[in-house]
Amino acid sequence: MNTYNPSGLLAIEQSFLRVPHEQLKKSYRQSQKHLEKDLGAISHAMDDLCQRATTKTMDSETAQPALDSMLKRLEDLKRKLQDTKTDEEEFIRRSKLRAQHLNALYEISSYESPEYQSWSRTRLCRFLVDYMLRKGYHESAAQLAKTEQIEAFTDLELFQQSAQIEKSLAAQSCAECLQWCSDNKVALRKIKSSLEFDLRLQEFIELARRGQTQSAIAYVRKHLVPWIDTHAKQVEQAMGLLAFNPKTSCEPYKRLFNPERWQSLVQHFREANYALHALPEPAPLHLTLQTGLSAFKTHQCNHQADTNINCPVCQKETLGKLAQTLPFSHHVNSTLVCRVTGEIMNEDNPPMRLPNGRVYSLKALQELASEHKGKVVCPMTSQEFSMADAKKMYIL
Ligand SMILES: [Zn+2]
Repeated sequence: MNTYNPSGLLAIEQSFLRVPHEQLKKSYRQSQKHLEKDLGAISHAMDDLCQRATTKTMDSETAQPALDSMLKRLEDLKRKLQDTKTDEEEFIRRSKLRAQHLNALYEISSYESPEYQSWSRTRLCRFLVDYMLRKGYHESAAQLAKTEQIEAFTDLELFQQSAQIEKSLAAQSCAECLQWCSDNKVALRKIKSSLEFDLRLQEFIELARRGQTQSAIAYVRKHLVPWIDTHAKQVEQAMGLLAFNPKTSCEPYKRLFNPERWQSLVQHFREANYALHALPEPAPLHLTLQTGLSAFKTHQCNHQADTNINCPVCQKETLGKLAQTLPFSHHVNSTLVCRVTGEIMNEDNPPMRLPNGRVYSLKALQELASEHKGKVVCPMTSQEFSMADAKKMYIL
């Protein structure tokens, strides 16, 4: 059996800790923004009030509304900060629980222990929840998380928010996604994302499509020109777009006017969102399955029409698809597995060859014979043989 290796198990768990950490950072930035903006405005109003008091251009009646508005702003600020504090506490709680869950691996001594079985089940459930969230099955994901009591290990709100933005993009509106870009401005700049530019370009394209040339030119000046250093060619193309009809067959304008561009924006947003939260692509469920499949994949896989029913790589329509791009596993010694019983064939359970060339284990032939009154019915061809027809094979 393999040696127990907890560090190896952590290799794909980076995002598990990163997601609440990134959310905490974002929430902290949000509260800083509120503080700077609101306290700045209040202090400005206060200075103004003092100024007017010293120059005696104000009496108590005019001062009252100004003080009231300052007070209201402070109360609003307090409410906003309380909201972000509640969020932050939740993200910290999740981070702690997740770290404890990963740390529990170091308390376990072997893959066979019941503790590992339980840990591994939790991992499978959270990977399934993650997969369902990515595929848009939010209710099923929430239900599984609740049943397994792993809500703190899942990122339901994150995926719900992203789904909302993807929906608005699919409905051809950039507003929500632009707001998201503004909320994540610093982080997007760090990963050199051009999502905001692409959204702005799309808004411009829609103006051009509607023939609103003046508004389109004003839009370019305001929102696209600031990107000129890095996106000069695209800005030039955008200007050229104004000379063309949306039905043009001339490239690149045909491509820019193509409504399918909205779908690529959905994809672009998804990639940026995953990158921002260190969410791996493909999903951890795929990654773990592929790790296992790579151990099964041999040069014999998918060679014949009647591939091995016990081999997951040979299941072309299901797991086999995930194995397509994987390398072959390195086998020094081959192990023969009986396709009927799934057991290993060796001296105790030798491979037996039927006259039609099919090979099964001795145990399988005995089972088959007991099912058909002593006759061996080949499961692949349905031909009938007697036990005496089978010849023992020797493994070299
Ligand atoms: Zn196979």
